[in-house]
Amino acid sequence: MPIDATQPYDPANLFARILRDEIPSRRVYEDEWAIAFHDIAPAAAVHILVIPRGPYVSWDDFSARASDAEIAGFIRAVGQVARAQGLARPGYRLLANTGPHGGQEVPHLHVHLFGGQPLGAMIAR
Ligand code: 5GP
Repeated sequence: MPIDATQPYDPANLFARILRDEIPSRRVYEDEWAIAFHDIAPAAAVHILVIPRGPYVSWDDFSARASDAEIAGFIRAVGQVARAQGLARPGYRLLANTGPHGGQEVPHLHVHLFGGQPLGAMIAR
């Protein structure tokens, strides 16, 4: 079910629990600002989720409230993960579902990183 992106941050959400290692994940990256792990139901040959360590519900929440250092650290982490996965040269796609119209289901900001194959049209029409 898509979330209400205006809700307050829920520290018991799934990705908060993955951050705290209360739920296992296939982690591929971590630094001061972000962690990245494989999506449990991959929609492409490579499908990784990158999440900030800070408590932000969505891209909307993060872009409004996060510090410049958090935003820079997170954006750099996303690029670093893509390079480390060997995706920079063939290319990749980023997606941040936000709120009900975006189809966001987990209320902790996450950027989907898709790659490893040609990804086709950006969105169904
Ligand atoms: P959203 O729809 O919120 O943008 O994306 C949520 C993503 O989380 C989905 O792609 C879904 O497959 C993934 N996901 C849901 N539960 C788990 C889980 O327990 N572990 C991992 N690694 N990914 C999950």
